[in-house]
Amino acid sequence: MIAEMSKAPPTAPLPPTSPSTPAWQRALAEGYRDAAALLRDLDLDPQDLALAQDTDGFPLRVPRSFARRMRRGDPRDPLLRQVLPLAAENQTAPGFVADPVGDAAALAAPGLLHKYHGRVLLLVGGACAVHCRYCFRRHFPYSEAGGRAGEWGEALDRVTADERIREVILSGGDPLAVSDTRLAALVHGLEAVPHVQRLRIHTRLPVVLPCRIDDALLAWLGRTRLQVVVVIHANHGNEIDDEVTAALARLQGAGATLLNQSVLLRGVNDDDAVLAALSEKLFDAGVLPYYLHLLDRVQGAAHFEVPEAEALAIHRALMARLPGYLVPRLVREKAGGMYKEPVT
Ligand SMILES: *Cc1c(COP(=O)(O)O)cnc(C)c1O
Ligand code: SF4
Repeated sequence: MIAEMSKAPPTAPLPPTSPSTPAWQRALAEGYRDAAALLRDLDLDPQDLALAQDTDGFPLRVPRSFARRMRRGDPRDPLLRQVLPLAAENQTAPGFVADPVGDAAALAAPGLLHKYHGRVLLLVGGACAVHCRYCFRRHFPYSEAGGRAGEWGEALDRVTADERIREVILSGGDPLAVSDTRLAALVHGLEAVPHVQRLRIHTRLPVVLPCRIDDALLAWLGRTRLQVVVVIHANHGNEIDDEVTAALARLQGAGATLLNQSVLLRGVNDDDAVLAALSEKLFDAGVLPYYLHLLDRVQGAAHFEVPEAEALAIHRALMARLPGYLVPRLVREKAGGMYKEPVT
């Protein structure tokens, strides 16, 4: 599919909603899908920014609550930069490919990635509330991988058959973009497997759409026998406002351990002071920094890359500023590796 920014239709018609549609699904449907509309609301002129003409099947998508945290009139706002499709995306760069982390090779069953010992990653949904321009899954063939419409039977059989699997990671897309009815059913299935002890959820929704953390979600999350770890994804301290902090407190109240992963991004957080402020804000909200990823070299994201030597220098400067528990591990994802490789 080829989307042309300049000819993009006004926001697509909303799916029908009824009084029983959860508020978060309505908020999801009401997000920005058009760069011009977003820029107008930020008092920016689309003419002043070199926007992508072709978003390569990965159009702009931004929840309104996330956009409200962007600074008006600042074309370099670090939140805007994460989501705005720029013309730079259309340039090819050597070494930047469609599947940089070898996901296709790690598919053990439809929707199930088994790369590392003791834990598997389940692709629960192909959808996201926000389209992060640097995302390494932007070209991932979800429909072929079978991580979509509730085809989890074979994945569950696989988990059941392998007693070494202690932890199941829900990923996607964003797993929390899936309805609570379906998530509760999936978690129920996992609870029935005696050797599964932990449920980990990798999600950006508590940050980009905090209203997602509602009573219906907390009901199944608070009830499960599994130990729950929620790994959120924030790259800049400005992403965390009072609404996000309240959502994180609700998750913690339901018994979840909260961690954060970030990606080191040129023009967003390639600065030790910015990363230190992020760590402090996360800790204020009850979240420990977990990983700081080097950019996965996915096609279309080369303009976000921070060279390794510079990344190391930033990480060292961060260590010099913060207590060890507030310094995320600097890692790189390698196809075929046994773990996410520490960068030293
Ligand atoms: C990142 C990842 C994990 C989790 O790795 P941790 O080091 O435990 O956070 C598991 N499986 C896959 C396929 C991954 O990409
Ligand atoms: S929310 Fe995660 S999976 Fe979705 S586009 Fe952003 S980085 Fe990619």
